[in-house]
Amino acid sequence: MRIEVDRLNEAGTLFASVYAPDDLPLEDEFMRLASEAKVEGRAGRKREQIRLQGTINASVEVACDRCAAPVIVPVNADFDVTYVPAESLAVEPEATELQEEDLSYATYEGDYLDLDELAREQLLLALPTHQLCREDCQGLCLTCGADLNTRTCRCEQQETDPRWAALAALKKK
Ligand SMILES: [Zn+2]
Ligand SMILES: [Zn+2]
Repeated sequence: MRIEVDRLNEAGTLFASVYAPDDLPLEDEFMRLASEAKVEGRAGRKREQIRLQGTINASVEVACDRCAAPVIVPVNADFDVTYVPAESLAVEPEATELQEEDLSYATYEGDYLDLDELAREQLLLALPTHQLCREDCQGLCLTCGADLNTRTCRCEQQETDPRWAALAALKKK
């Protein structure tokens, strides 16, 4: 969905959009929408600066860090992003610095804002960087790739701590 800059004013305009999972690809092979994503909020404009404030609600399917099983993560996040025209950054270098310091700044080009992009970015920001299917996930066997949550394999599960190996060597002497 596009938000036309010309239609915005200082008082603010409400916007809302609902995405079916297929309508908002997350552009990450390990994540996808597991439910509709609802984005709603208010868009206000002060000259060239546009501020979008609102909330995003969705469920995202991500892969477990250890075993790659799908995990559904609910996302309910608030956002507050100020957009400045991309052209203005070229003219005012201070604005570029401002943008680097503060992640809640974004740029737009032309006469509209891309709400799809905002929704995608806000979802990715809201997701935890690490996700386990359960606290004690056993992960996959590093040798044969078996899912150790559902089966045991015949590979030898060796102690990875080298101190134990050193101790074992000492005992043999
Ligand atoms: Zn897992
Ligand atoms: Zn194995």
